[in-house]
Amino acid sequence: MQAVTVLGATGSIGVSTLDVLARHPDRYSVYALTANSRIEQLFNQCLEYRPVYAVMPDESLAADLQGRLEAAGSGTRVLAGVEGLQQVSSAEAVDVVMAAIVGAAGLRPTLAAVRAGKRVLLANKEALVMAGPLFMRAVVDAGAELLPIDSEHNAIFQCLPERYQGLEAGGVRKILLTGSGGPFRELPLEQFAEVTPDQACAHPNWDMGRKISVDSATMMNKGLEFIEACFLFDAKPEQIEVVLHPQSIVHSMVQYVDGSLLAQMGNPDMRTPIAHALAFPERIEAGVASLDLVAAGQLDFEAPCEQRFPCLRLAREAMLEGGTAPALLNAANEVAVASFLEGELRFSNIPVVIESVLEALPVAELDCLETVEEADGQARVAAAGVIQRLV
Ligand code: NAD
Ligand code: MG
Repeated sequence: MQAVTVLGATGSIGVSTLDVLARHPDRYSVYALTANSRIEQLFNQCLEYRPVYAVMPDESLAADLQGRLEAAGSGTRVLAGVEGLQQVSSAEAVDVVMAAIVGAAGLRPTLAAVRAGKRVLLANKEALVMAGPLFMRAVVDAGAELLPIDSEHNAIFQCLPERYQGLEAGGVRKILLTGSGGPFRELPLEQFAEVTPDQACAHPNWDMGRKISVDSATMMNKGLEFIEACFLFDAKPEQIEVVLHPQSIVHSMVQYVDGSLLAQMGNPDMRTPIAHALAFPERIEAGVASLDLVAAGQLDFEAPCEQRFPCLRLAREAMLEGGTAPALLNAANEVAVASFLEGELRFSNIPVVIESVLEALPVAELDCLETVEEADGQARVAAAGVIQRLV
């Protein structure tokens, strides 16, 4: 029996994780569930999954939830804040931590799980993008087991040799990172300025949280995933190629020196990578229908256009620059996307904000977590300044 903490339980990945866990009550118990704002949803999840702990962002929300749970006869104890998140990520009794908080807020709790040597299921790509080298060193030092949930990285992981010791050692020539191109793959460029949040969040193939949906529409999601893949698989930027694949059936591929190209395919449903990472190296039922290739009929691939998606270029440049550049990129993007979602910043100005921040701020060496957080803070202030000038 494995005890599982789900960070970000009320989000899209959190809900899919609970769906898979509920299919296997003989294998998994829920240790802790955490949320940021949706108290009602977390309350219902606590009654259904009976975790030992729940975590809310502050004392007052925690007391509110604790009161409701006690009145309903629940024995779940409610903790508060980042300390609460770190506690349920690193507790002795926990075996597996699903890191599914969105954005930089997930960095500390995810690292706490890594440092405690847990099996960490990584959905929170922003944490790895910000702190890549520190994060990966912590995985090795603590003997943690890091398994990718991002469908592309999970696909790559499945296509790589079993005892992976680097691309060259495994005879790998290249990683092909696929992306659908989002809802605006064919939108005339002059219409990018008028795109609304609801249009940007209507992804053709995936049902996701609003931040990652906007990232998919700008293709910053693929940019963040490019950086994520460099760190996860210890790959050089030139060893990773982004390929557009509008059907989202091939989730990524690995090309070997002998000419073999291995692909992982499936219906676009995050329960597949979640179930894979939970049970690895075993396989368990995920509730996902088998892929019907005859019904799908056609698989298309094309090269991405960087003029349409400047975020791809910005992410590659940040990765090549190294140090705190990816953390600056990530923070500027988070602020720009939040402003766009609030109806302030134009969609077409998201990359403008990020590029201005990267041009304005110095890049530091990534020596410790405090340096990462300082860069994150500086980029947020700088991005807010740029946005003020643009709106
Ligand atoms: P979401 O917005 O649906 O959910 C986010 C979760 O994080 C919620 O439970 C929310 O309460 C919590 N949260 C938000 N801000 C917080 C804060 N400041 N402190 C503590 N908790 C906070 O997002 P999502 O789509 O589930 O994505 C979660 C992560 O998984 C993201 O990093 C995303 O890039 C990654 N991811 C998602 C998908 C997908 O299909 N949704 C696919 C691949 C990767
Ligand atoms: Mg992905």
